[in-house]
Amino acid sequence: MTEEEIFQIAKIKSCNFWPKVTKTDYCWNWTASGQGGYGRFGVAYQESGVWKTRNFQAHRLSYMLENDVLIPKHLVIMHTCDNRKCVNPSHLDLGSHFDNVHDCMKKGRRRTYGKVPKLTAFQALELKILYKMGMTQAELAHKFNIAPVSVSNYILDKVKTKTEFERCKKLNPPLESAVG
Ligand SMILES: [Zn+2]
Repeated sequence: MTEEEIFQIAKIKSCNFWPKVTKTDYCWNWTASGQGGYGRFGVAYQESGVWKTRNFQAHRLSYMLENDVLIPKHLVIMHTCDNRKCVNPSHLDLGSHFDNVHDCMKKGRRRTYGKVPKLTAFQALELKILYKMGMTQAELAHKFNIAPVSVSNYILDKVKTKTEFERCKKLNPPLESAVG
């Protein structure tokens, strides 16, 4: 069964989703089970006579239901309210994992900005997709005009993209400027 087909089933089962949510004036909190602080919603489906369960993160599924779109796995849904349990669609934002602010801040706290990256977030995402589609690191190095070692660094998420780099600088100004 494809992800799209499972999503169609999830839409039907969403009548079981919303009763697990307690709405406050601000956040809509997931009250059922979860993992890592995030809510989780299991969708049961039958494949070749066998019952299986596909677990969705509750906030991801909320975003997908609201926008009626299946979100590819390489894209994250971020909380603008910083509350992992929240499934309020107006508190959810789509981004690539390059935009993950928590990750950005975690790295930023170590104050290791490294070299200014050569690729934009979009290019870095494109690079990773092409790599998954089977393009070799040498081919990617040629295509993006970067060193092969840089290609593997982008694949392993060791390099911040230009956008992320700028945002990290904003969120974590260097010590000197914080003092001055
Ligand atoms: Zn919220």
